[in-house]
Amino acid sequence: MECRVGCAACCIAISISSPIPGMPKGKPAGVRCVQLNENNACKLFGQPERPAVCVSLQASVEMCGNDNEDAYRILTEWERATSPKASIFDQNLTEPAKAPLTRKRCTNT
Ligand code: SF4
Ligand code: SF4
Repeated sequence: MECRVGCAACCIAISISSPIPGMPKGKPAGVRCVQLNENNACKLFGQPERPAVCVSLQASVEMCGNDNEDAYRILTEWERATSPKASIFDQNLTEPAKAPLTRKRCTNT
């Protein structure tokens, strides 16, 4: 599926352990990434400073649901299910849902 422009649930709901410019220790779950702009788009999109985990993230129905609220709910549940072991980013989003990874690259965030 295509990423929903302006959603940004994956940039808020889940933790990111790798450094982000402006967040050198990564991002806790439920905290808005400092690189999100007022339109909920990534200010680092297309730039080398953008974390590799963000570049590799791809939108999927399993992760993003049918709307932005759905995505936030699903990602919060995944985060709770995987914490404190590791961010779901670190697990390539294969746990705990075991979702098929048939996704298009996230173009929003
Ligand atoms: S990848 Fe999914 S959760 Fe992240 S911004 Fe796009 S639609 Fe939202
Ligand atoms: S894609 Fe951009 S805004 Fe989203 S978490 Fe990564 S660095 Fe932050």
